[in-house]
Amino acid sequence: MQTQDYIELEDRYNAHNYHPLDVVIEAAQGAWVTDVEGKKYLDFLSAYSAVNQGHNHPRIVQAMKDQLDRVALTSRAFRNNQLPLLAKELCELTGYEMMLPMNSGAEAVETAIKAARKWGYTVKGVPADQAEIIACRDNFHGRTITTVGMSTEPQYQAGFGPFTPGFKMVPYGDAKALAEAITPNTVGFIIEPIQGEAGVHIPPKGYLRKAFDLCRRNNVLFIADEIQSGLGRAGKLFAHHWENFNADMVIIGKALSGGLYPVSAVLSSREVLGVFKPGDHGSTFGGNPLACAVAREALKVLVEEKLIERSAELGEYFKGRLQRIESPYVKEVRGRGLFIGVELYPEAGGARRFCVALKERGLLCKETHEHTIRFAPPLVVKKEELDWAYGHIEAVLMNGNQ
Ligand SMILES: *Cc1c(COP(=O)(O)O)cnc(C)c1O
Repeated sequence: MQTQDYIELEDRYNAHNYHPLDVVIEAAQGAWVTDVEGKKYLDFLSAYSAVNQGHNHPRIVQAMKDQLDRVALTSRAFRNNQLPLLAKELCELTGYEMMLPMNSGAEAVETAIKAARKWGYTVKGVPADQAEIIACRDNFHGRTITTVGMSTEPQYQAGFGPFTPGFKMVPYGDAKALAEAITPNTVGFIIEPIQGEAGVHIPPKGYLRKAFDLCRRNNVLFIADEIQSGLGRAGKLFAHHWENFNADMVIIGKALSGGLYPVSAVLSSREVLGVFKPGDHGSTFGGNPLACAVAREALKVLVEEKLIERSAELGEYFKGRLQRIESPYVKEVRGRGLFIGVELYPEAGGARRFCVALKERGLLCKETHEHTIRFAPPLVVKKEELDWAYGHIEAVLMNGNQ
């Protein structure tokens, strides 16, 4: 079978809820993927930052295989010997008192919302069913009814209402709007420290810190959705660390498993995660020993291979090069670490054709919204590989679409 055969099968039997580039991948290692025709591509998306450690990292694959030979799933009806170790290691790495494991990112967001609400009722003293959570315009927190309900993207909502009540929206980067939106019933403020899906938007300097201080003063939980921006992607363990504070709750997923398995978690204090009593919340697969063994090794690789520092250094280098391109199409290059967005002028005719041209040259990137290309290679990418990619990016951005 060849590329076109797979595409036809998928289009016929699989729901069309994505618009993928027409490359059919059959293998991957590190920063590179290989398609069914044997053509190699440098991965500049990293599965939306799930493979920060690189595809099929040998150490994480080995940890997964070893655990598969023992036990994969116990359910939380019984205990297993991996969950306690992941909980300890993750809390020690991040400085939080407790964690709660789930599977997908959206599930962890839902978990954080449930925790914030219950904390509001049982600790803060908000009257029953009155809890409010403030979210930011242009956010992306997942695809469940609640998370699309708190979105401002019309396409995410169209046809899927009615939505979960209890959310207020404020513009991203506007501390005054946040101050005005907070009421005595506000329990949480949820934010991506860098908005990934919206186009790698970095808020104005000092905003996150200001928002955190506002939350502090009003006894509101600052909830950082670090599913995409965290675990080294933005050149820090968590992107909000760029403004030197620790969010009250942190939501992680994606790279928590190095891309080998869906693993997510919520991190917070004993006061917040302590609101969950047995039976309040759960997940059949959440905290399973296979997931925990994979996540433990994925975190060790992140630290021991100094991937966070690599992201900071290589990101600064690569962003600098991109910012010096004098292309008539480029409006702005922005980013932190190896989390970089290149926004094009509307006259460029959309980012997708540039992504298609880069694919032809062996570089896989994806447009995010219409006019921005996101560059987010695995953090194990080599400087020479970035230079190779740069040559193609420059050529495509200078010439339009060749
Ligand atoms: C990817 C993502 C999610 C959703 O994670 P899933 O695993 O796809 O459910 C939530 N928030 C942010 C910021 C993300 O990037």
